[in-house]
Amino acid sequence: MEKEEHPTAPEHDGTPPTILIVDDEPTNIQALAHLLKDDYRIRVTAAGEKALAIAAADPQPDLILLDVVMPEPDGYEVCRRLKADPRTQGIPVIFVTGRDSAADEERGLELGAVDYIIKPFSPRITRTRVRNHVELKRKTDALERLSQRDGLTDLPNRRVLDQRLGEEWTRSQRGGTPLSVVMMDIDHFKPFNDHYGHGAGDDCLRRVARALAGVPGRTTDLVARYGGEEFIALLPYTDKADAWRMAERFRTAVAALQLTHGHTTTGIVTLSVGVATHNAGDGTASAEQLQQAADRALYAAKQAGRNQTHQAPAP
Ligand code: GH3
Ligand code: MG
Ligand code: MG
Repeated sequence: MEKEEHPTAPEHDGTPPTILIVDDEPTNIQALAHLLKDDYRIRVTAAGEKALAIAAADPQPDLILLDVVMPEPDGYEVCRRLKADPRTQGIPVIFVTGRDSAADEERGLELGAVDYIIKPFSPRITRTRVRNHVELKRKTDALERLSQRDGLTDLPNRRVLDQRLGEEWTRSQRGGTPLSVVMMDIDHFKPFNDHYGHGAGDDCLRRVARALAGVPGRTTDLVARYGGEEFIALLPYTDKADAWRMAERFRTAVAALQLTHGHTTTGIVTLSVGVATHNAGDGTASAEQLQQAADRALYAAKQAGRNQTHQAPAP
């Protein structure tokens, strides 16, 4: 009778959300899995360490139902570690436990759990709480995705770039690995807009963005829209020679689009490109300096006549 009117789970890309159930009692796992199996993909484990591994690996669960009393690590410890790890801290945790004191509940919530369900649980209420928290998680994920994208081109935006640049700078310092930055700017884009209109300009930006995004081969490479008609590529583990090759591939990928531009000498939309590379022990003092070096190289490419790549001298 529960079945008929139970709240249905929010779907996402046609795939149901995944719930990870962690409990050392098989009967508890069975009861929860039975309750949720029609609406969610269910994963289960009886061990805290295993739960942490599952939560950190792709595809990650959308919600975790966590028992408190288990052999080491217990539920509190598992929750604490989930919330301390940037990879897993966004996954909502609901404690499902027989411990019903206010102090226990308080402790669970203080550790960052979104909810605390006391056994024996009401199936309807449990299902509704799970659905509400999964829905909230999906909305938060969607907002997070939106905040990282440029609305016009769908490339990662400047915020993402700035953050990744900081992270990759630190990584390259620590590992002694090279890091390259490529700054790109469409040539004579103002006259393009003036003559063909802003809509055609937007369309051009989208095509250029798609061409640039198609160039990188490594998953660690990032191509972002930096602003207006400026794009930037972040190339970790890429030395000077390879960075030059990549920069030229970006430039030629845009030229190959053959987008008519009647107000340039080339007759097509082109890019000027500046590239800079940081190597362990060279004089570059910060990520900002590296980016500024790429910017100066871009400026030099513009000055030298556009539609070309310039490389920053070794610092
Ligand atoms: P240069 O070769 O020196 O780079 O010249 P430019 O004309 O490309 O450079 P400028 O900075 O003078 O002009 C950039 C133009 O880009 C001006 C602006 O209207 C246009 N632009 C910036 N963002 C957008 C956008 O989102 N959509 C459209 N359609 N145009 C944009
Ligand atoms: Mg320009
Ligand atoms: Mg510009």
